[in-house]
Amino acid sequence: YEPSRIRNFCIIAHIDHGKSTLADRLLQMTKTVEEREMKQQLLDNMDLERERGITIKLQAARMNYLAKDGEWYVLNLIDTPGHVDFTYEVSRSLAACEGALLVVDASQGVEAQTIANTYLALASDLEIIPVLNKIDLPGADLDATAQEVESTIGLDCTDALACSAKTGVGVAEILEAIVARIPPPAARLDEPLRALIFDSYYDSYRGVVVFIRVVSGQICAGDKVRFKASGKAYEALEVGTLTPGAEKPAEALRAGEVGYMYGGIKSVSDARVGDTIVLNKAHEEVEALADYMEPIPVVYCGLFPVETTQYQLLRESLEKLQLNDAALSFEPETSSAMGFGFRCGFLGLLHMEIVQERLEREYDLDLIVTAPTVVYKVQMNDGSEIDVDSPSKLVDSSERVSVSEPYVALEMFTPKEYSGTLMELAQDRRGEYVDLKFLTEKRVSIKYEMPLAEVITDFFDAMKSRSKGYASMEYSMIGYRPNDLVRLDILINGELAPPLANIVHRDAAFTVGKALTKKLKELIPRQMFKVPLQAAIGQKIVASSSISPMRKDVLAKCYGGDVSRKKKLLQKQAKGKKRMKAIGRVNVPQEAFMAVLNLK
Ligand code: GDP
Ligand code: MG
Repeated sequence: YEPSRIRNFCIIAHIDHGKSTLADRLLQMTKTVEEREMKQQLLDNMDLERERGITIKLQAARMNYLAKDGEWYVLNLIDTPGHVDFTYEVSRSLAACEGALLVVDASQGVEAQTIANTYLALASDLEIIPVLNKIDLPGADLDATAQEVESTIGLDCTDALACSAKTGVGVAEILEAIVARIPPPAARLDEPLRALIFDSYYDSYRGVVVFIRVVSGQICAGDKVRFKASGKAYEALEVGTLTPGAEKPAEALRAGEVGYMYGGIKSVSDARVGDTIVLNKAHEEVEALADYMEPIPVVYCGLFPVETTQYQLLRESLEKLQLNDAALSFEPETSSAMGFGFRCGFLGLLHMEIVQERLEREYDLDLIVTAPTVVYKVQMNDGSEIDVDSPSKLVDSSERVSVSEPYVALEMFTPKEYSGTLMELAQDRRGEYVDLKFLTEKRVSIKYEMPLAEVITDFFDAMKSRSKGYASMEYSMIGYRPNDLVRLDILINGELAPPLANIVHRDAAFTVGKALTKKLKELIPRQMFKVPLQAAIGQKIVASSSISPMRKDVLAKCYGGDVSRKKKLLQKQAKGKKRMKAIGRVNVPQEAFMAVLNLK
């Protein structure tokens, strides 16, 4: 144990700028993993992550590196999730480091997450080493990228490193720079134990395994410890260090070291990222490292099994997922239209998609998912305030004083030629203009304040398509603002369809109602009878359309003797039925529940 030879660092980057590729290259060059074990992108080890090319869950890896000065160093690479939904986790994993490699794709330049992540790293006081990646590409422009980093972030780039994570050129210099430029952890072994939890996962044999950075003192196997925020006490059954794919037991983890610990912890909600571990006997006098923050769900949706028989399986699956995902929340939701299901809360849209996909893939569930909504705050006549996480729960305007909705500060980065169309888009979505700034001659940053509800519809996709894929964005919550919001109900065949209700601005109710009824007409299959579709605010119908009845001869046509064709048609109908819920007498397919997300 020699703290002066430890370096704790992370890699921050905009998506696709080469974080995982560089991490793999570092592991390979330090021979942390054998060549033959080298799977592409080792650090992203969930299927889903690999498919989407994003990092969701953070991981850590310990490397032994023989530097040019002839000394061995321990390099702990702590991987951070690269998405705005997980900002708190990002900030906690940064807090476990002394330095960061800031990877910027030299053929792309600075993007929204480059900046957002750098600010988080600066807030944690990290030493930042700019790394200009992808120099093997013909389009790489080192000078322009360095200048952009300097002008946007104010980070000195005279000593920026250039590399190709793909070919390996320049990566040896990065290892040297980590040793030379990132400070070693402070030697605080004599102080009382304080360890920061920066990640955890659930294991059915050992319970929750927590990943920790020891900030001061030491933690030994057998120690009685206490988690400051949760208040729970455990025995550290085992502690050790982390290499990819393997955990190596150790006697102790000391100040400055990174590793794991477990000890009969039942659920990740008892061992939250951001919590501080101290020795049990000293828990009253030793203070936590920082205020622990509870992750707050900002997006909600309903999850219903297509087959009512899968309700129990859905509950068990959600419980299992929650063991590994403390930010996931759910409670039973029952409606006459949808039957039994759950109202689930997520940190953001990506988080929601990840959970849905895992439920369907890993637990083999067929789900109907209702459109995501934000949480509204409703000031009631009696002076109380209630949270509304489902549009159908918004009470009639006679019972309330006002409705407030969450706002975000939104920043878009784009080549200047798209600024006009992106500002138009933001304005369309009730955005309030804040600022436009030139980052370089060619690229601008545009800031707006906007209701979160407008961002979680298809804003990201719209921004991408209007900018031909070139723009990027980041947003953060800035609090609640009152607006003239109303509940827009949908009636199908004269029956209220609560899962299709929306909360919209009064000025937009007519337009949304018209577009939504039109869209539903396309998405809901024809029935044997005519189906009226209506959008209403209270008793007042604001828009309507109807689905004309199915022609009686759809099947009759097939009677020409071709039995197999008729069979195929029926099979097709049966398949189509899989993802449907009956609202009254009408079968409504999954797409209809999401219709509001792409009206434009
Ligand atoms: P991440 O999202 O930041 O983790 O980015 P990845 O490491 O997954 O890289 C995104 C894409 O860029 C992948 O297709 C990589 O193969 C590619 N890439 C990464 N580094 C380089 C590089 O130095 N040169 C080239 N040409 N491609 C690279
Ligand atoms: Mg990656």
